[in-house]
Amino acid sequence: METNFWTDTHAHIHDDEYGRSVDEFISLADDKNVKRIITIGIDYDDSIKAAAVAEKYDNIYASVGMHPEYADKYNRDNDYERFLKLASNKKVVAVGETGLDFYYEENPEEKYQNILFKDMADIAGILNKMLVIHSRNAAEETIKILDEVMEKHSNLKGIFHCFDGNMNVLDWVKDKDFYISYAGNVTFKSAENLRQALLNTPKEKLLIETDSPYLAPVPVRGKKNMPANVSYTGEFVAQFLNIPYNILMGQLEDNIQRLTKGVLL
Ligand SMILES: [Zn+2]
Repeated sequence: METNFWTDTHAHIHDDEYGRSVDEFISLADDKNVKRIITIGIDYDDSIKAAAVAEKYDNIYASVGMHPEYADKYNRDNDYERFLKLASNKKVVAVGETGLDFYYEENPEEKYQNILFKDMADIAGILNKMLVIHSRNAAEETIKILDEVMEKHSNLKGIFHCFDGNMNVLDWVKDKDFYISYAGNVTFKSAENLRQALLNTPKEKLLIETDSPYLAPVPVRGKKNMPANVSYTGEFVAQFLNIPYNILMGQLEDNIQRLTKGVLL
């Protein structure tokens, strides 16, 4: 299939920390053929904002969830039900971002992160929406929890967002409804390991994202990132894999549509 636009599968644009407006993001993205954006919540209040923006704009979708960095703030009695309810919204296409992050020592203890991640995955399974996974220095533990949750929800599916190149994850996703999303850091000179992973990622598992406002790709590296820049990452990936842009766009579109069961316009 051929397509002529990109999707940014992971951005934080509903409450930009630099004060840029959603309208501005959409129009700049449009100029670069980026026609669809999934904006991602990191805690409950932030997720409400993400869902509200998705409600307002046709080409924006939301993911609602809680980042592992806030796992010690997660209160099952209070939060499980309200996330389940918020995630039921039609323009909410995913649950997350959530997962495990053992990179920063000041992050909440593993036991808290486990509880949060399992509950978020459970909600994704119940609603049959994709899980947006943040996994850093935690590949084995992430896979273990997903395997566990899948004993109950065999339909579980999702995205390893801002993929870190872990080969065990690449292996694990191969026979499952899980996908690998590359952020702008795949274009960085030092990111040989990510490009090696990219070569080993089946095309039907591939997605791209900005993770705006972080990780702006070459040639805008170091600037505040925005969804328009996913076009640079897309062009880089296409050139690196030696595929025409419109063919890569078509492949990525097939992938995200398969993952979201066609709810994206
Ligand atoms: Zn993110």
